[in-house]
Amino acid sequence: MDITFSAQDNQFREQVRAWLQDNRPHEPHPPMDDLSACRDYDLAWQRHLYASGWAGIAWPSEYGGLGLSLTRQLIWYEEYARADMPPAGVESVLFVALAHAGPTLIYSGSEEQKAFHLPQILRGEVVWCQGFSEPGAGSDLAGLKTRATLDGDHFVVNGQKVWTSRADVSDYQELLVRTDSDGPKHKGITWVICDMNSPGITVRPITNMSGTDEFCEVFYDDVRIPVSNIVGGLNNGWRTAMSTLSFERGTAFIADQVLLEVELKALQALAGKTRMTDGRPAIAHDDIAMRLRDMQAECNALRAMTYMDVSRNMQKALPGPEGSMTRLFYSKLSQRTGQLLMDILEGEGLQRAGRYAEDIERYLYRYAATIGAGTEQIQRSIIAERVMGLPKSR
Ligand SMILES: Cc1cc2nc3c(=O)[nH]c(=O)nc-3n(C[C@H](O)[C@H](O)[C@H](O)COP(=O)(O)OP(=O)(O)OC[C@H]3O[C@@H](n4cnc5c(N)ncnc54)[C@H](O)[C@@H]3O)c2cc1C
Repeated sequence: MDITFSAQDNQFREQVRAWLQDNRPHEPHPPMDDLSACRDYDLAWQRHLYASGWAGIAWPSEYGGLGLSLTRQLIWYEEYARADMPPAGVESVLFVALAHAGPTLIYSGSEEQKAFHLPQILRGEVVWCQGFSEPGAGSDLAGLKTRATLDGDHFVVNGQKVWTSRADVSDYQELLVRTDSDGPKHKGITWVICDMNSPGITVRPITNMSGTDEFCEVFYDDVRIPVSNIVGGLNNGWRTAMSTLSFERGTAFIADQVLLEVELKALQALAGKTRMTDGRPAIAHDDIAMRLRDMQAECNALRAMTYMDVSRNMQKALPGPEGSMTRLFYSKLSQRTGQLLMDILEGEGLQRAGRYAEDIERYLYRYAATIGAGTEQIQRSIIAERVMGLPKSR
């Protein structure tokens, strides 16, 4: 394992820093609850990155990427977080496309699928969503029932997905369908690319606890999907889905992980200048000072874990189960960072439209961090069974 930066890496960092300094967008990012404005903004920003030669840093160059190492991707995210740029992680509408649909296609897609979809993603032309969860299949993903029946060179899909983030502003979906009901349930699943503009798809937004319509129910009534849209083989979708989740749990959150360090610094500054109801600055309260100190130490640990993951993932095509440790550690730490912000703000934390609106929005959204991409309990089971080698839970 090598977690040091070479002289060339440092030179790359300087180039990134200089470019970011000159290219900060003039327009602020729209609020997360205005999804169609977020779509326009994030796509325009991605087009700018592509035109400037900064899109797909670790993606293969034959599909429009830069073909550089994951270390360079990490450096990009570190500088990006420090430069206060538009969202690059889970808050971007391009998160699914860039962080796990694209990587899944690179890993398992056919030549035609890669050549068609990857450049479109990098050029900022399309938004993807993830159609995995169903009302009866979340943690028990293999229990999914949305059915695809063969009809010539097409599947006819019927069923329902739920919690599909940004389905209403998406062009494509990574969709899991049941193509065989006879054998073991995880052996009859297929991963297909679904065009979200296909006839027969109905999208119904769901309002979450922070008041945004971030995710949706998606209904499929005789939706026709070409068989050529299968990724990774018929009835082999469980394997393809596990690779998608490996990226989602392994590398997808690097941008958010490095951003947390910047957020914590802002929180320290806020604690220094905010007077609490007893008239003393927040930082003068032992409880708050100690929590800030502990979080700083944990942020350092998170950075070390991120570096280790990057180094490990450079040796192989697919992130391993160790990514679940970092993902879980990040999720819990990000939730506690949000809780500390609320404790410092006291009553002001209840003013959703005030000057801390964006931070409060983020705090609420972070509750989802231990649910999406596998709940906290599922991540702990993965760590226990697949990293530590403990006996399987029943
Ligand atoms: C903000 C957000 C965005 C999301 N976006 C998407 C998306 O874009 N696409 C998509 O497909 N899905 C998405 N999801 C859904 C997410 O993947 C599921 O919510 C998650 O997998 C849990 O499934 P569930 O909600 O059905 O809960 P359940 O699986 O019913 O779990 C309920 C509780 O039981 C526990 N539990 C269940 N099984 C076990 C077990 N074997 N061992 C221990 N505990 C267990 C869980 O940990 C949880 O606490 C999103 C979720 C959120 C919160």
